[in-house]
Amino acid sequence: MQILNGKVALVTGASKGIGAVTAFKLAQNGAKVIVNYNGSHKAAEQVVADIRNAGGYAIAVQADVSKEADVKRLFDDSIAALGKIDILVNNAGIMLTKPIGQVSGDEFDQLISINVKGVFNTLHQAAGKLADKGSVINLSSTVTRTMFPGYGPYCASKGAVEQLTRIFAKEVGGRGINVNAVSPGPTETELFLNGKTQEDIERLAGSNAFGRLGQPDDIASVIVTLASDDAKWISGQIIGVNGAMA
Ligand code: NAP
Repeated sequence: MQILNGKVALVTGASKGIGAVTAFKLAQNGAKVIVNYNGSHKAAEQVVADIRNAGGYAIAVQADVSKEADVKRLFDDSIAALGKIDILVNNAGIMLTKPIGQVSGDEFDQLISINVKGVFNTLHQAAGKLADKGSVINLSSTVTRTMFPGYGPYCASKGAVEQLTRIFAKEVGGRGINVNAVSPGPTETELFLNGKTQEDIERLAGSNAFGRLGQPDDIASVIVTLASDDAKWISGQIIGVNGAMA
C-alpha cells in the first residue's frame, strides 16, 4: 500500500522547481494532488499531465497566494472538486538578493506579500478547512541559519514563516494536524539559478558537506515523509534539508 493512499494534497507554487517535483512525488505515493500556480499555466498543466501519465490523479488551480480572495477560492474549489484537503505544502515563494540599502520599499512589500502573507492566507483557510489529522509543510530556507549578506528581506520572510509554523502547530494540534517547515539549502531550480554566475553556483554548491547543489527531489522526499502518518509526532519543527550546510 502507498503511504499517502486516500489523502488529498494541495501544493502551492507547483508549476516548477521544488513544488512541481513535490506534487509528482506526493501523487506517486498515492495522494490526489492540487497543483497550484500563479502565472505558469502551461507548466502547471504539464505537471498534471506527468502525474496522470504516471497513473496518479491531479488537477491544476490558478491562484495568487498573496491575494486573500484567490486563496479562499483555491481552498473552496479544491474541496468542491476532491472532497477535502489533508496535506498543505506552502511552497510558493520568490527570492530577491540585494543589500538592504538597495532594496526598494515596493520590492520589500512584494516579497513579503508572497512569502509571508501568502503563507498566512493559506494557514488562515487551513485553520478551519484542512481535514482533521492533516499535515502542513511550509518552505523556509537555510538562509535563516547562514544569514548571508544580500538576503535580508528574503531571510526576514522565511524567519516569519518559521514563527508562523511554530505557533500554528500549537493552534491546530488539537485536531491532530502536524505543522512543520523544511529549510532547503541551495537547490537547483530557476529561483536559485536566476542571476547567479557560474562562480556563485560553484561556491554555493561547495558550501555543504556533499559538495553539490541540492536537487528538488532531495527536498520533496522529506516533504512526503512529513506528510505521512508515520511523521505525526513531529510538529512545530524546522527541519534543515541542506547536506549539513548549517
Ligand atoms: P521556483 O522554481 O522559482 O518556483 C516557484 C514557484 O512558486 C512557481 O511554481 C511559481 O508559480 C510559484 N509562485 C510564485 N509566486 C506565486 C504566487 N504569488 N502565487 C502562487 N504561486 C506563486 O522556486 P523553487 O526554488 O522551487 O522554490 C520553492 C520554495 O522553496 C520557495 O518558497 C523558496 O523560497 C524555497 N527555497 C528554495 C531554495 C532554492 O535554492 N531553490 C532554497 C531554500 C528555499 P508561477 O510560475 O505559476 O507563478
